[in-house]
Amino acid sequence: SGPDRVHEVTVTPLDEGVLLAFTDLTEAEEMDRMRRDFVANVSHELRTPLTAISGFIETLRGAAKEDARARERFLAIMAAEAERMNRLVRDLLHLSRVEAEERNRPESRVDIAGIARSVVDSLQPVARAGEVRLNLVGAGQEITLRADPDQMVQVLTNLTENAVKYGSPAGATVTVALGREDGPRGPVLRVSVSDQGAGIDPRHIPRLTERFYRVDSHRSREKGGTGLGLAIVKHIVQRHRGRLVIESELGKGSVFSILLPMP
Ligand code: ADP
Repeated sequence: SGPDRVHEVTVTPLDEGVLLAFTDLTEAEEMDRMRRDFVANVSHELRTPLTAISGFIETLRGAAKEDARARERFLAIMAAEAERMNRLVRDLLHLSRVEAEERNRPESRVDIAGIARSVVDSLQPVARAGEVRLNLVGAGQEITLRADPDQMVQVLTNLTENAVKYGSPAGATVTVALGREDGPRGPVLRVSVSDQGAGIDPRHIPRLTERFYRVDSHRSREKGGTGLGLAIVKHIVQRHRGRLVIESELGKGSVFSILLPMP
């Protein structure tokens, strides 16, 4: 009945049909492999903080029982590890929600300049803490786009946080810039985030938007990264029928731009 019939229909005597059946199978296998990798990665990412927390619980029950200072220190580490798990679960939920909605292009009209102003304002303390100057240009007047406002906040926050986190030694400047351009398929808004950081080796660039891909996983973890930020950005941009462009030069810095179709 059901599944058998589908199989029969797919493998038609036509060359084209057979080819199609093969393609489907390869694609299905590829999807399956990706799903397994993803589950393995998530398990690993969750297990690392869990192992640390369990280890410290044992220590608190044993050797550190009578040592108040050690106890405080271990509790602080446990809190930080629990916080890491929290961030990871939050980002996983964001990612799955964005993926689920990817086919529905947002309908609402939003003022992206206003969003950029509020994101930049709210990240000023983070920038100051890293002694980075955070500038915004091109957001003086309203720029209306068809977009999901929460997701635009998230894209701008992820890119700007990365620019501050990885991009910038003390004294450097991060610039968020908005500007209209003529794209091949009509007018687009370019939103770019430029930093003056270490830059990214070109061989890493095509893989940066993969889930859990990090150039330097130690550094990412130390900075509180989950490895999901750019994957979330990619899916949000796809949902908006836009493009993500990454340019980088080692020793000079990086520019992450999104190009969004104008209404
Ligand atoms: P994470 O949570 O690790 O920050 P992301 O998906 O946001 O995850 O970024 C993936 C990796 O891309 C980071 O771990 C970092 O190695 C690299 N990266 C992202 N933005 C920048 C940047 N502005 N400069 C240098 N490297 C960056």
